[in-house]
Amino acid sequence: MNLTILGCYAATPRTLTNPTSQVLEIKNHMFLIDCGEGTQVQLRKHKIKFSRINHIFISHLHGDHFFGLPGLISTFRLLGRDKEMHIYGPKGIKEAITLLLKLGDSWTNYLLVFHELSSKKSELIFEDDKVTVETIPLNHRVYTNGFLFKEKLGERKLNVDAVAKYKVDKAYFHNIKKGKNIILDDGRKIENKLLTFDPPAAKSYAFCSDTAYKPDIVPQIKNVDTLYHESTFLESEQHLTDRTKHATAKEAATIAKNANVKKLILGHYSTRYKSIQLFKEEAISVFENVELADDGKLFNL
Ligand SMILES: [Zn+2]
Ligand SMILES: [Zn+2]
Repeated sequence: MNLTILGCYAATPRTLTNPTSQVLEIKNHMFLIDCGEGTQVQLRKHKIKFSRINHIFISHLHGDHFFGLPGLISTFRLLGRDKEMHIYGPKGIKEAITLLLKLGDSWTNYLLVFHELSSKKSELIFEDDKVTVETIPLNHRVYTNGFLFKEKLGERKLNVDAVAKYKVDKAYFHNIKKGKNIILDDGRKIENKLLTFDPPAAKSYAFCSDTAYKPDIVPQIKNVDTLYHESTFLESEQHLTDRTKHATAKEAATIAKNANVKKLILGHYSTRYKSIQLFKEEAISVFENVELADDGKLFNL
């Protein structure tokens, strides 16, 4: 699983920083998460093929999280896309995008499928044989969801030496990889654990932005491998979190600690601070394994 941060700063774009957008590469999918202004340019810069993106997840309808979407949709058309594009986002996103297209007397030559979200409870919004995606309801000034991406546990790995030793015919391999014990033609019963190794651990990634401190997300993200949590402010600006519905680095770290995640990535920094290192310093006093997102940074998860 790879995560490329295209943008991770709050509010206005600046010469060297971009609003929120990231690409999660998971089991052959390229999931685009949020699409702030400048996302297309960032995709180009980081050589991510537009044609590999088939699913876009939008957390909420603040401009710094979706103003890049109309441009991207229109570029897909100019590039001659014909594959379906699935967009998951708050109710209203379809109206916003279709109005822009309509006023420009334009439409896409590929199918644009909107999956509009309005539930205040977590929902399973995507599933195939390898991956699931659930919403994580957040607490922000407008309706907002984070997203929990989970790999499914793969097939068991065949122990090549063991199958040779027991002279197991290839015809049984399919069931063995599925975890079944087998009975050979000669009547011998062989336990699955003698023929296989455990599959690689299934990984998980939780994206939580934007949100005020919301401890009730902890059970849903318990033990995830990586948590991206917004930290717009430092504790010195705690008084602003209530009104703006954003979190501090310390609060993000508290969520990470209570959820027992393996790694915390901070982002969505207010640009009022001199250095983003300050966010890490604050978070690390609560939770040890903290990394800072930054535009263009690649995380191998
Ligand atoms: Zn934001
Ligand atoms: Zn917001």
